[in-house]
Amino acid sequence: MCGIVGFTGKSAAAPFLLEGLHKLEYRGYDSAGISVIENSVINTEKTVGRIKALSEQTNAGALTPGFVGVGHTRWATHGAPSIENAHPHLSGKRKFAVVHNGIIENYAILREQLIGEGVKFVSETDTEVVPHLLEKYYDGDLIKAVSKVVNLLEGSFALGIICTDFPDTLVAARRFSPLIIGISENANIIASDVTAIASVTKDIIYLDDNEIAVLTPEKAEVFDLSGNKISKDLSKITWDVSAAEKGGFEYFMMKEIHEQPHAVKQTLSGRIKNGEVVFEDFSLTTEKLKSINRIVIIACGSAYHAGIVGKYVIEEMVRIPCEVDLASESRYRKPIINDKTLTIVISQSGETADTLAALREAKRLGSHTVSVVNVVGSSIAKASDDCIYTWAGPEIAVATTKGYSTQIAVMYLFAAWLAKHLGTKDDKYIADFLSEVKALPQKIEEILSLEGLLKEMAKRSVNDESLFFIGRNIDYAVSLEASLKLKEISYIHSEAYAAGELKHGTISLIEENRTVFALTCYKALADKMLSNIKEVSARGAYVITCANEGDTDFEKESNQMIYVPRVHELLVASTEVIPFQIYAYYVAYHKGCDIDKPRNLAKSVTVE
Ligand code: GLU
Repeated sequence: MCGIVGFTGKSAAAPFLLEGLHKLEYRGYDSAGISVIENSVINTEKTVGRIKALSEQTNAGALTPGFVGVGHTRWATHGAPSIENAHPHLSGKRKFAVVHNGIIENYAILREQLIGEGVKFVSETDTEVVPHLLEKYYDGDLIKAVSKVVNLLEGSFALGIICTDFPDTLVAARRFSPLIIGISENANIIASDVTAIASVTKDIIYLDDNEIAVLTPEKAEVFDLSGNKISKDLSKITWDVSAAEKGGFEYFMMKEIHEQPHAVKQTLSGRIKNGEVVFEDFSLTTEKLKSINRIVIIACGSAYHAGIVGKYVIEEMVRIPCEVDLASESRYRKPIINDKTLTIVISQSGETADTLAALREAKRLGSHTVSVVNVVGSSIAKASDDCIYTWAGPEIAVATTKGYSTQIAVMYLFAAWLAKHLGTKDDKYIADFLSEVKALPQKIEEILSLEGLLKEMAKRSVNDESLFFIGRNIDYAVSLEASLKLKEISYIHSEAYAAGELKHGTISLIEENRTVFALTCYKALADKMLSNIKEVSARGAYVITCANEGDTDFEKESNQMIYVPRVHELLVASTEVIPFQIYAYYVAYHKGCDIDKPRNLAKSVTVE
């Protein structure tokens, strides 16, 4: 999720590691560390501060001499940001040091086994199983031990490994997390993205899933998990550093839009087991749940919209009344919350001041609180009784995309978890629902291919002064988010309306050529939506309809269509929102707006 660097060369490793980590700072991180081998001893330095602090701590690397090392910037997923949890992690005899990006899904079981064998853990991370397993399986053959361990791991990982028995060797391995090898005359290096490599060399090798790289200053060899050598092509870095930071995209927002399949996959990882949802360290019991007669979801901005999706899904699956409240309203309204209310708060940063205050108030009133946040160890995560992290990775663009998508993914998981524990849906329904949830990353990926079409379509809205998004049920929830996205970054006014409500007033604003987006993926109300589309098109609106592939009934009444792949009816928000993120992006792009930093907005609203 965050950053990895590694070095083996004829010069000191630490200066490169520190510089490389500095280059990776743009990705966001909560702690950092380096390990370097000197005289067969691994020296490690860590900080919960900035890379600058790590550099000062090591006197720009002079205090950690040695020619081979690994470094890491951490974005915590398992265990709060702290020195103990910061990487590199070491094996018991300090023979191995490991840095890791990603999530090891089966770490809990591996950790339990190791503890049973007498291994002492010093951190709460999923990562720490790796160095201990390496030490357990190492018999003098490094590649064999790494293959064995990688075969045992489930989930996503990029690993950088050093071992005191091989003082000039750096090992790397990956599955579903990026890792690149840089080849140069005097050093061979690894990094999680090219920004950390580009200043040293332009010659790189892309490591693929389930491959292990063994680097010395002279050689870079790649093996499969059975120990067979693989021949790899050398590529050239053509991007400049600022393009590289954005993964080749012009703005972080587009990079993050494209990261959504991976971010959603991460958020689901390890949480769907044998057709049901498992949340680790959850204190909410079935007995407590049975006493709940109301659910209140509290949030701000896009998180509030994710909450509205949650309301529709939870009410349908669990049949408990679910209300969504704006945090800034809830906290000052003497909310009717008590010990029979389950309160869910949603915040990407986990520091949203209004949401934190509303959460505290809900707790004071006796409610059990569950938070949905992206930043491990944040104030909201700490203040709530239970927390379900969205493992979206750091989000840099102010307008959220992958944050929102992972929040709604958690809503689905939580709804399925509630339905199972309260017995409101049978096991088959839940298992089928979850298998459709698991298919979402692939569906989102497919929608990203609409980018060219949407870029062209978005030219139309550059001159729109005001436009509408209409939908019903979950389509309405997505309309709210689609409208906000457009307003945030393109500064064009828009309204999201429950389609059936239009005729109760606002239809007076529909005039010739007014752009109206009709969201019609929620199948049960498609007929009703068709009538609403007719209503606005009869008044001259220019209608762009977003429908499921194959639902061609709308074509006659619409000026343009956007088709998304069909998914379970309760999951349409995940697919339907994507074209509107891209549309909003390109309207802003064509208008020349500062997409990543829209005027007057801040990423994390830590003030009232
Ligand atoms: N899951 C690991 C941890 O929480 C790695 C996080 C990362 O990718 O930075 O330490």
